Amino acid sequence: MTERKPIHKLLAAILLAALLVGAAPAYASTSSEIQEELDELNGQRGDILSEMDDIQARIDSLEYAQAGTAGKKQMLDEKILLAGQELDVLAEQIAIEDGYLASLQEDLDDARREEEDQRQRWLERVRAMEESSDVGYIQVLFAATSFSDLLTRLDLVNEVMAYDEQLEQEYIAARQRVQDLEAQAEIVRTENEQRRAQWKEKQAQLEADVAVANALMETLGEDLEEYQQMMAEAAAWEAQVEALIAEKKQELLDAQLLEQMSNQSGASNPAGFIWPSYTKQINSYFGNRKHPISGIWTGHKGVDINANYGSAVWSAASGTVIMASTGWNGGFGNVVMVMHPSGYTTIYAHLSSIAVVSGQSVAQGQVVGYVGSTGNSTGSHLHFEVHDFYGTPVDPLAFSYP
Ligand SMILES: [Zn+2]
Repeated sequence: MTERKPIHKLLAAILLAALLVGAAPAYASTSSEIQEELDELNGQRGDILSEMDDIQARIDSLEYAQAGTAGKKQMLDEKILLAGQELDVLAEQIAIEDGYLASLQEDLDDARREEEDQRQRWLERVRAMEESSDVGYIQVLFAATSFSDLLTRLDLVNEVMAYDEQLEQEYIAARQRVQDLEAQAEIVRTENEQRRAQWKEKQAQLEADVAVANALMETLGEDLEEYQQMMAEAAAWEAQVEALIAEKKQELLDAQLLEQMSNQSGASNPAGFIWPSYTKQINSYFGNRKHPISGIWTGHKGVDINANYGSAVWSAASGTVIMASTGWNGGFGNVVMVMHPSGYTTIYAHLSSIAVVSGQSVAQGQVVGYVGSTGNSTGSHLHFEVHDFYGTPVDPLAFSYP
């Protein structure tokens, strides 16, 4: 995530530059200037798109990693399930061993009692025999230091006395059983302890596996969300720049048409007109057009200038106001007509308000009204007409404007 901030900064810088280009005043721009701005915007859009490629690559690799982790997690889950089953089996074995140990202990208690009985019976027998003899057999036997030593001494005694063989064997067997049981119990106890240790170890491993898998999935999820957020932001910026590009393209088209027409007319301006609005953006040109309300094709007798509502409209040249009328006016709405010494007449229609009166003299550039949408109009714009000396409408864009 260390490269995240630089990308954000770069994108922000690109967006700011794009907005500045987009905000450049339109009225002063020639087509070559607009083309430059357009090139710059396209370059910036390219930068954003390449950054988006980078972000997408990271998203892809994260998703790939996450898919791998999801696979690992699935394997871990399976391992965890098996480990849980193994733990259950171990616990069952431990319980069985516990029961076995308890029963062994009971057997051992019985065997010890039996051994003691046998020993007493045997001792009584030895004492009875000793009474009819002058040898201290009991002392010999009681001096035994261990079981094997005792067996050796018994052999010695047997050599010298007629001994009850069966009694002796029973005593030996009882002792042997005690020893066997003790050994068996020891084995089971050791196994049981090992199994308990094993259970604890496996349980700890299982918990560690679960924790690792969960932590990894969470971290990856967070990273992915951040990149997806960045991607959405970049896409939004790209859309903004694209909108600016579309705007610029329209602007370029308008400027090129204006320049083309100026060139065709030999850049002539016999009336000495200036453009009557702050913007040269044209919505509708002179000539045939489909009427936006009626849908009928008519000859458009002027140009529709895409000016903001309330922006100033000034006289294209000095002259005399011959009409300044509010109302429908045949679809013109609030309209001003100015007759110029050159013989041309200019008309400014759909005004929101009028700033002059009929009969008044106006200077070139003097405000005659404000842009609106009165009369037969679907939106704020200035309908600008130029009539020649004979009252015939001519294309306003046939003149060159300074
Ligand atoms: Zn119009």
